[in-house]
Amino acid sequence: MLNLSVLLEDAARETPDRDAVVLGDTRLSYALLDTVANQVANLLAARGLRPGDKIALASPNVPYFPMVYFGALKAGVVVVPLNVLLKPREIAYHLADSEAKAFFCFEGTPQLPLGEAGFAGFQETDACEHFFLMPADPTATASPIEGAEPFLAAIGGQPGTFEAVQTDANDTAVVLYTSGTTGQPKGAELTHGNLLMNAIVSDSLFEKTLHDTLLVALPLFHIFGQTCMMNVGLFRRGTLVLLPRFDAKQAVALMVKEKVNVFAGVPTMYWALLTDDTSPEDVATIRDNLRVASSGGSALPMEVLKGIKAKFDVSILEGYGLSETSPVASFNRPDREQRPGSIGLPIWGVEMKLIDDEWKTIEGEGPGEIAIRGHNIMKGYYNRPEATAGAIRDGWFRTGDVARRDEDGYYYIIDRSKDMIIRGGFNVYPRELEEVLMTHPDVSLAAVVGVPHESHGEEIKAYVIRTPGATVTEDELIAWGKEQFANYKYPRIVEFRDELPMTATGKILKRALR
Ligand code: AMP
Repeated sequence: MLNLSVLLEDAARETPDRDAVVLGDTRLSYALLDTVANQVANLLAARGLRPGDKIALASPNVPYFPMVYFGALKAGVVVVPLNVLLKPREIAYHLADSEAKAFFCFEGTPQLPLGEAGFAGFQETDACEHFFLMPADPTATASPIEGAEPFLAAIGGQPGTFEAVQTDANDTAVVLYTSGTTGQPKGAELTHGNLLMNAIVSDSLFEKTLHDTLLVALPLFHIFGQTCMMNVGLFRRGTLVLLPRFDAKQAVALMVKEKVNVFAGVPTMYWALLTDDTSPEDVATIRDNLRVASSGGSALPMEVLKGIKAKFDVSILEGYGLSETSPVASFNRPDREQRPGSIGLPIWGVEMKLIDDEWKTIEGEGPGEIAIRGHNIMKGYYNRPEATAGAIRDGWFRTGDVARRDEDGYYYIIDRSKDMIIRGGFNVYPRELEEVLMTHPDVSLAAVVGVPHESHGEEIKAYVIRTPGATVTEDELIAWGKEQFANYKYPRIVEFRDELPMTATGKILKRALR
């Protein structure tokens, strides 16, 4: 029996009364969460969905997410989590591409009218038969969208017990659409074995405690939040404190109120926590409680790592992975020497190596493209045999990330191969420039991209958020950069911004900047 839903079932059996999820003043016990998941499983079976069928789920970090996720898994039904920022046309694409038979969609908020976008996308799709609307206000009885079936009424009459369907380790559990920076978004097929192993091995990286309280700010529809917060959290019988949309002030308030001891985030979240004017009392409470902080998703700037250590007295452990690798592939394990700037060592049961464009192994330091093999590698891209064959060979998955490796096997990401700038024939890796720019006292955050240029092919441009009150000018920063870098790679254009575009996960959207 290897159904991923065992994570919830086990916790509900062992610690039924413990808080599983917290959202504002709402607290749901493990027993209750499991019961609702069983109702979802019964609903799906009653509507004729069979093991292997798919459902789409569009929900921010609210309790509906784990309810529907584990309910579907119990029924052997595959979950297709959708980014909550998708527009109707994109939702229709995802529903059609994944062949989802039912769509569970959160109503949303005035700022995020997810329900309306979801229903419009649903109406464009023929094959998807059921649309369940999950209300923002659980006490509301009528559906605010005509034609949409209210979720709570649908599960209301269903029994609260369900015997989970037996699955094989290689059965698909989740189809996760990747950011799609190249071409159309593709669905990575992750199996019950992939996700269960990744949760258990990730959990094993940390010392055992009796009870963890995790702040879940990473979106659960993204693999980082799904595995490292939700699945690991449940495996630890922890309490998931949900934050539907990251905001440093709210994150601080929740860390203080709930005495959070585990936090995982992308670097921009740490940056926001670092630059937040947190009161000394709140800083003290966080310092007393926060025990584990991990980062992934994009490169953690050294300045942020040092700043967080100084402010909250916690060392951020950096890891690395992708949607296609469930996600964790490597990590700076707390029981080994941590090397700042490194993504650490491959986790248990996972191998990494460097390869060239022809898939030939590169020995020694590199640089080269990271390839990964192990229990965390997806089955393939859903319905895309050619894309799968292009990405996986002899079990090795090629990542598109360029890295170096030191003599002890620690990996250091240089950059995403597609973010590399080629200026006048020279390769420039933005990450190196961003790291150095952020050591300038007037620079708070920097993002470097290549912009088209007549004679150089590409020119180097830095988008910069200045530290509050800083006055450095564009010319001064360019002149400073000229002293720091070789002539071919200092930024020739600087643009100051108050904020930078980000994905729903909090990664800086380089595509939009370009
Ligand atoms: P996603 O599939 O959305 O999870 O994105 C995966 C990509 O995030 C990887 O291919 C990397 O480019 C990037 N990434 C993840 N972790 C790190 C890290 N620690 N440092 C640098 N880039 C990272």
